[in-house]
Amino acid sequence: MPDSALPVAVRTLLVVLGDQLAPDHPGLQGLDPTRDRLWMAEVAEESRHAPSHIARTALFLSAMRHFAKERRDDGFSVHYCHLGERPEQALNDALRADLEHLQPQHVRVLQPGEHRVLRQLQAACADQAIPLEVLDDPHFLVPLDAFHQWAKGRKQLRMEYFYREQRKALGVLMNGDEPAGGQWNFDADNRGHFGRDGPGLLPPPLSFPPDALTRECLGDIARHLPDLPGQADDFDWPVTAQQAQQALDDFIQHRLPAFGTYQDAMWTDQPWLYHARLSTALNLHLIHPRTVIDAAEQAWRDGHAPLPAVEGFIRQILGWREYVRGLYFHFGEAWHEWNALEADQPLPALYWDAKTSMQCLHQAVGQTLQLGYAHHIQRLMVTGLFAQLLGVRPAAIHAWYLGIYVDAVEWVELPNVVGMSQYADDGRMASKPYVATGRYIQRMSNYCAHCPFDPDEALGDKACPFTTLYWDFLDRHRDRFARHPRTALQWKHVEKMDPERLQAIRDRAGELRKTLAQGDRI
Ligand code: FAD
Ligand code: SF4
Repeated sequence: MPDSALPVAVRTLLVVLGDQLAPDHPGLQGLDPTRDRLWMAEVAEESRHAPSHIARTALFLSAMRHFAKERRDDGFSVHYCHLGERPEQALNDALRADLEHLQPQHVRVLQPGEHRVLRQLQAACADQAIPLEVLDDPHFLVPLDAFHQWAKGRKQLRMEYFYREQRKALGVLMNGDEPAGGQWNFDADNRGHFGRDGPGLLPPPLSFPPDALTRECLGDIARHLPDLPGQADDFDWPVTAQQAQQALDDFIQHRLPAFGTYQDAMWTDQPWLYHARLSTALNLHLIHPRTVIDAAEQAWRDGHAPLPAVEGFIRQILGWREYVRGLYFHFGEAWHEWNALEADQPLPALYWDAKTSMQCLHQAVGQTLQLGYAHHIQRLMVTGLFAQLLGVRPAAIHAWYLGIYVDAVEWVELPNVVGMSQYADDGRMASKPYVATGRYIQRMSNYCAHCPFDPDEALGDKACPFTTLYWDFLDRHRDRFARHPRTALQWKHVEKMDPERLQAIRDRAGELRKTLAQGDRI
């Protein structure tokens, strides 16, 4: 229940959003528990505007309740609205109602990770004529101003250059002015697969089964949000800063040394492999990226993990993670509008139930519905690739990713989906579309060995839908890519294709689209 123990006028109301749960939240500095309050709200709308996986919702609520409890233990006063207390209200309505009642002198919030949320807070404060102070978010290593400066005047905003500058600026994996090991990039060492024998015995990640607070959240979700997708039977994410640190220690100790080699590999019924499982803790601010980076670098300096693994891992956090955040804010709301390839298909129903005989999609989507998790290559080269080849509307595939992954927050999800995986941003992020035939999936996994389709075939009964749709994609977008220096080589093959065969591929691709659009299965 809201804490109403303080009858005196509130000076500062600190809005703490569900992904801003650092114990050293900068907004706490200078707060006086007798005059200032924290404000936190669980609103159903946040789980409904893009239907949110049960585990994702549970993660946010549980981490919020743990944070609120810890801050109360620290002596702060927390005005907390639980799920179901105000079933009809969105975030702005809930805040507006409390502003009316509390009448603080001003409201403070850390830069929200979604434009929509900032607009809602601004509207609620403007309605009550209460000033809103938006603080910079020190939970990232590159301030937004610094990113805009870096981006200013550049024709292309490529991650690699951004990442190198951050390595130098922050002194990460550097030996003086030179990159550790004499090279910036170890990608060539980091594309391994497991071969026919598979991954063998894998180190199971440290698990955090639901405690009493998480179980309480799960009960509330079952009561107030019974229609959410997914399930939470296997929920075991860290929900406190202490658990996040344990998760990091466990990763560094047991999985980091092999992370690099196998970061792109996939295997049936093996969701975690050597991945860190740290995106949720990072995105909810339970652990700081610098802590994670320093721990990885130290593991290399101590001789515990090889440089390619450590560089590959740090690149994901100091490179990709900071870069996509910069891009999200740099281009603002435009991300929602982009559809460079004019994709117009609906999202196939299989994304919501995993019912398909395509094994790669059955595995990646099935695992996602079970856990709210899939690793990077499953997101990029299975679910993302299929949507792109099919031509799914960016807004539809964005809504799916935003709701279905436990670690999804718009600043990180939107550029990854609309930019990296769908090329809807017209190449602002990636120099060319990430497209491949089913052979890529065959090389990086054992999915095709259990599939009725054959990744070598584009036509016929055993034709792999990825392969058919790949050639159709090249054909459909010839005008855009065939004469571009970065893509001409890839497109050359379709230019040379026998016209009859190409027509048969177009027809087959059209049938696949029709089948999926009317809700039938492949
Ligand atoms: P690991 O594979 O162990 O990587 C370590 C860390 O690197 C991650 O925890 C993450 O913080 C960071 N990282 C890796 N790749 C990226 C990236 N491309 N962008 C930003 N950070 C990265 N990540 C999210 O946190 N939220 C999302 O909503 C999200 N949506 C994605 C959608 C698509 C289409 C793609 C291709 C990627 C997406 N990612 C997203 C990035 C990546 O898939 C996840 O961060 C990663 O799978 C999380 O699992 P992990 O912690 O085990 O990561
Ligand atoms: Fe996926 Fe094609 Fe391989 Fe089947 S054959 S698992 S559809 S890539």
